Amino acid sequence: MKLEKLDHIGIAVEKLDDSLAIWEGTLGLVLHGTEEVVEQKVRTTFLPLGESEIELLESTDPEGPIAKFIAAKGQGIQHLAFRVTNIEAALEELKTKGVRLIDEKPRYGAGGAKIAFLHPKSTGGVLIELCERK
Ligand code: ZN
Repeated sequence: MKLEKLDHIGIAVEKLDDSLAIWEGTLGLVLHGTEEVVEQKVRTTFLPLGESEIELLESTDPEGPIAKFIAAKGQGIQHLAFRVTNIEAALEELKTKGVRLIDEKPRYGAGGAKIAFLHPKSTGGVLIELCERK
């Protein structure tokens, strides 16, 4: 398994519009699109930045993972996402290395990506997303 690049940085926000005022208005990034991922109870936007992207995540449900994250830690960086070419093989390899997986199998991510999360208890407190895009 090889991590190809930092695909995106996921940031938990209370209100997308308020955050876009900062990321677009103040910092000058350009919004690439907004999508609701029902399964994860989030509305998500991507703002490309060089080889990577900034992902802003707003919860659509008070019980969703982003709402819980903000309740516990406040707004801020929630995960780092690394691009892999074969996510199933990467998960299999990490499992044999003893890494605790949140997702044993990839699930649907924004933009049609296949994604899976590794448990922060196995990665020194960092929530890592693996991401395969066609
Ligand atoms: Zn992400």
